[in-house]
Amino acid sequence: MMCIKHSGGVMCSEVYRMKAIARCECGALELNVSGAPVVQLTCHCKECQEFSGLDFVEGGFFRKENCHITGNSKSETLQGGTGSQKIHHSCSSCATPLYVQVEALNGAIAIIANRLSPFTFESEAHIWTSQKAEGTIIPAGVHQTAGPPPKDIVQRMIKGVWEQ
Ligand SMILES: [Zn+2]
Ligand SMILES: [Zn+2]
Repeated sequence: MMCIKHSGGVMCSEVYRMKAIARCECGALELNVSGAPVVQLTCHCKECQEFSGLDFVEGGFFRKENCHITGNSKSETLQGGTGSQKIHHSCSSCATPLYVQVEALNGAIAIIANRLSPFTFESEAHIWTSQKAEGTIIPAGVHQTAGPPPKDIVQRMIKGVWEQ
């Protein structure tokens, strides 16, 4: 497989050559993803709970241009915490929630990690824990915030989605 980061078809062992697929239940909506995630977060906000039907969402954030989407999605636009839009996408046929597009992050796409394969989710922080579902226990020792992601992660996200 060719490395995306190093042009000229150089073979390299870096994570940048990663390719993975996220698919809905019926297979009509599919995301082909290349490149490493910019950041990986566990979100406990009510909107994520509602969208996913889960107690929290484990999401990998990818640059828009690293995601190739096929099939039709049903979308719902929400005003995010920053006042900018985020768009929830689920399959228009089977209604499986699959990804969220964040306008404020250059259109970056957060994919529900358990639908992405091959992929090993490694949470960098648990966010919006103030809204966590009843009974959710956040493992001791993990990075967590009651609200939005901490500054250092936000900076990394901004850098990751805009920089060439
Ligand atoms: Zn489907
Ligand atoms: Zn959330």
